Amino acid sequence: MDMQFQPIGEKTERPFIIAGPCSAETEGQVMATAQALAKQNIDLFRSGIWKPRTRPGSFEGVGKEGLAWLKRVKEETGLKVTTEVAKADHVYEALKYGIDVLWLGARTTVNPFSVQEVADAISGMDIPVLIKNPINPDLKLWIGAIERIYKAGVRKIGVIHRGFSFHGETKYRNVPRWQIAIELKRQFPDLMMICDNSHICGRRDLLLDVAQEAMDLNYDGVMTEVHPRPDEAWSDAAQQITPDVFQELVNQLVIRQETSDNAEFLHHIDDLRHKIDELDDELIKLLGERMTISEKIGEYKKRNNIAILQTSRWNEILDQTMDKAAVHGLSKDFMNVILRAIHQESIDRQEKIMNRQTAE
Ligand code: PEP
Ligand code: MN
Repeated sequence: MDMQFQPIGEKTERPFIIAGPCSAETEGQVMATAQALAKQNIDLFRSGIWKPRTRPGSFEGVGKEGLAWLKRVKEETGLKVTTEVAKADHVYEALKYGIDVLWLGARTTVNPFSVQEVADAISGMDIPVLIKNPINPDLKLWIGAIERIYKAGVRKIGVIHRGFSFHGETKYRNVPRWQIAIELKRQFPDLMMICDNSHICGRRDLLLDVAQEAMDLNYDGVMTEVHPRPDEAWSDAAQQITPDVFQELVNQLVIRQETSDNAEFLHHIDDLRHKIDELDDELIKLLGERMTISEKIGEYKKRNNIAILQTSRWNEILDQTMDKAAVHGLSKDFMNVILRAIHQESIDRQEKIMNRQTAE
């Protein structure tokens, strides 16, 4: 679907800053956070009113009552406000209280029925919508949600990258999988992209690094959870920071330009890119040659009735290559991905050869 988006807000320079508590807890907590953040010139004040919790029994948000607090934030601080909506009722209530921007949470984007319900409820309203990535790493589902909201007539759409669920060991609460967001940006360059470093990290010490990485990937802004007393927060305590710590984080962010028109810069970068292109050509040629030999091995194994995989040989390749790669400063993680991809392609080629010859 061909889509053209309009920006959310008038700000042209980066970063666009969204900050505020995970959840609205009390009127005092909301007002205190908003007053502190208003002094920092943030662009949008966030606060969850209805909280989609993984398990029942945790704090599920104050509900409608909190909308009046957000209205007060607008009136007393001049900040624009945003909250999460997951159902038609949420949309109607939020609009009644003058919420400026709506956002769809990760557990809503994942469900086309819910996204459609929200899309139908906002149809014909001129309200900007931010769409978080679905909890699972499925770009099509994310794009599907954008399309549903777009079809409802909304043009001021942005996306929030909040990371993806991951079963296994990781330092993140939700792994970033940056390539998924980069691909979305490639397909829709005018789509505003915000990094929710709080939900990616799940802990305070990583927040700056993740926000910086997002800025270096040309994201438009960040969404960060800020609470006056983070340790006492009713939800997501481990990842929230005080307004002062947040200000410090924003001050430390280095904002680099996407490109430059300086002739010397362009000349030098062209030169280096030319070298990269030559090496890529070489890599492609070598990979092709490697696959041709794999196919020969496949044919030979077939003739001798030998299985495709010899675990000991695969272990040998892994060990040898890891050692050699380390000498060239290549990380184990990187080599793992590359080697496994090459190995899988070899297996697929040999598999094809064996099947074809069986069929003949
Ligand atoms: C939130 O922003 O507080 C939230 C619930 O986020 P997510 O939908 O990304 O889990
Ligand atoms: Mn949260």
